[in-house]
Amino acid sequence: MLLEGKRGLIVGIANKRSLAWGIAKSVAREGAQLAVTYQGERLERNVRKLADELEQPPLILPCDVTSDEELDQVAEAVREGFGHLDFMVHAVAFALREELDGRFVDTSREGYRIAQDISSYSLTALSRRIAPLMPAADAGGGSIVSLTYLGGERVVPSYNVMGVAKAALEMSVRYLAADLGPQGIRVNAISAGPVKTLASSGVHGISRMLEHHRAHAPLRKNTEQDEVGDAAAFLVSPLARGITGEVVYVDGGYHLLGTTLEAR
Ligand code: NAP
Repeated sequence: MLLEGKRGLIVGIANKRSLAWGIAKSVAREGAQLAVTYQGERLERNVRKLADELEQPPLILPCDVTSDEELDQVAEAVREGFGHLDFMVHAVAFALREELDGRFVDTSREGYRIAQDISSYSLTALSRRIAPLMPAADAGGGSIVSLTYLGGERVVPSYNVMGVAKAALEMSVRYLAADLGPQGIRVNAISAGPVKTLASSGVHGISRMLEHHRAHAPLRKNTEQDEVGDAAAFLVSPLARGITGEVVYVDGGYHLLGTTLEAR
């Protein structure tokens, strides 16, 4: 198994549709032992129930990424429970619902701040805390993977402030890769095609986006949770040991298109 003996932290499971849950299933299948987090009591029961499906019982920890105290506690609990950490998956995003409709130009100061804090800064805040738990370069180093979307590079209707947060997230991946590379820590992102989840349901017109993707992506299908999970398992594994600072597309090739006119 690709990740036998490896220990990983997965942040961002809300329910069984979450991309983070797809990733948890893929890396657990490859032998990884996990710590998973939940945001607030509302999601604790979901996450505990899903965790029961994993062969090796995971550490289950509360983590609201806007709280420095909770981030410190997660790092400490992982250090106590595991001693070290081989990889982390960051699959967290949030924007106020009213910012994911209408025009970007109407974004409020508070809406902008919240989207950046939760969806982008949290990767840096978490990475700083867990990097010291990762093995040295000559002992295999570590790997960090985040989740992004094409709306961070190109204008996608209604994605608005989240697109700007994803642009910041993708640039954070590059700066973190440069900072942490000398320690043997790789930092990459997966740019996933649209998948119906709790977070994506907040984007106005998501059902039409899914339809459009299915009709026009070179692979003529929607992105599936397990495709993202398997790509993440590759990125956190030794097979990807030469890859850092990259955005890897798992979108059936949709990002290649210059136009969707006359797709057959
Ligand atoms: P999801 O299941 O709703 O996951 C988003 C997670 O972020 C939830 O667990 C959510 O918890 C959590 N979160 C929000 N605010 C948080 C906070 N303050 N502290 C800690 N966690 C917080 O949706 P998903 O689609 O799988 O999203 C995972 C990642 O994939 C996101 O970065 C998203 O942008 C990215 N992505 C998704 C798609 C897609 O189409 N689904 C495509 C490309 C990229 P709450 O439910 O409590 O808010």
